[in-house]
Amino acid sequence: MSQENYDVIVLGVGGMGAAAAFELARRGRRVLGLEQFSLGHDRGSSHGQTRIIRKAYFEHPNYVPLLHRAYQRWYELEQLQGRHLFTECGVLSIGTPQCELIQGVQRSAREHGLHVESIAGSDLRRRYPAFQFGDEYVGALERDAGFLYVEDCVVAYAEEARRLGAELRPFSAVTSWQATPTGVVVRTEGQEYAAQRLVITAGAWTSQVLGDLGLPLTVRRKVLHWFGTSDDRLFRRDVFPCYMVQRSGSFFYGFPVLDANGLKVARHDEGLSVADPSQLDRNVTSADEEECRGFLRQHLPAVGGSLRFARVCMYTMTPDEHFIIDVHPAHPQVAIAAGFSGHGFKFAAVVGEILADLSDKGHSELPIGMFSIGRFK
Ligand SMILES: Cc1cc2nc3c(=O)[nH]c(=O)nc-3n(C[C@H](O)[C@H](O)[C@H](O)COP(=O)(O)OP(=O)(O)OC[C@H]3O[C@@H](n4cnc5c(N)ncnc54)[C@H](O)[C@@H]3O)c2cc1C
Repeated sequence: MSQENYDVIVLGVGGMGAAAAFELARRGRRVLGLEQFSLGHDRGSSHGQTRIIRKAYFEHPNYVPLLHRAYQRWYELEQLQGRHLFTECGVLSIGTPQCELIQGVQRSAREHGLHVESIAGSDLRRRYPAFQFGDEYVGALERDAGFLYVEDCVVAYAEEARRLGAELRPFSAVTSWQATPTGVVVRTEGQEYAAQRLVITAGAWTSQVLGDLGLPLTVRRKVLHWFGTSDDRLFRRDVFPCYMVQRSGSFFYGFPVLDANGLKVARHDEGLSVADPSQLDRNVTSADEEECRGFLRQHLPAVGGSLRFARVCMYTMTPDEHFIIDVHPAHPQVAIAAGFSGHGFKFAAVVGEILADLSDKGHSELPIGMFSIGRFK
């Protein structure tokens, strides 16, 4: 078997891998990216048209500095590509004043001086008549938040990486990898590659690729639905923001109407456990649909039209729902980014930079302490 040599191999060219390949190539590394499917495919976690991006991060204020950096880098990617990837239509969080979502948004805004407008329940109904919420709910509107076109972002980073000399090979599933005294050897069906460094960005397949590490990851099946509305013009992005709604016992989110598919809505919490990501059930059931319809009937009654489009996707969860971004505990030449727990895409631009740092020098100046593998011990 012949062997080809590289500075860095990126295993998995989805959201994080494409951004890492770009950044490594920009730094002059000889990069090989191996992807089991096509570039910008719909079999992993980075598809379904759009992803929310926001800075007033309810999950933890420590994410905010990374988000400032991610914004810069998404704008940079838009400029490199000369096309639009990020739409700032605002993100409206809705919940009771004491819920985790509203409390968390306000805390991050307070600690990092971010502008978030508080909206009382009665004003919520006046300003956004499409929403029906009782007076016990309040809103928190972050205007310079919005959404990214997800597949376009992945393809854009892949194109820019290739422009800088990275070799990206779709339909090249990695069957095994091994650390060596001088780096790593990575095998696909019929080919062997050597490199000084390896970056593992395998998404839902991370447990298969890093089996010996025993990372506490679980994969969840998630369904995205697009429904018809009574009048799509009421939900256009100039009048209707992205939204996240925390109710007691459920968390839904969605996007403005962007095209003939109508309004996209999905449930963020829950989701069936997936034993093997390659065997994911991609059929959308009436139970999947009914879950979203129940939410819409109660809170967005004008969105009760036909189901126009749907996609099934996967979250890779960690126990604390924070990411894993670290070097391999036994092999410092291997950097890992995984467990994005259903909220990682907006960070892909900065994760690419962090992975390039970890690959180059074993650490990053960017604040990633809370993403260490060691926290699970
Ligand atoms: C329905 C849904 C909604 C979401 N909404 C948001 C949101 O609004 N905002 C947000 O920020 N985040 C959101 N997320 C989360 C975000 O999309 C993910 O965290 C992010 O896309 C994960 O990127 P990744 O690179 O880890 O995974 P992926 O993009 O899936 O990339 C992993 C890649 O590795 C490849 N691979 C795996 N094993 C191998 C192998 N052996 N050989 C070769 N290739 C391999 C896979 O084929 C895949 O392409 C959402 C996720 C889902 C599923």
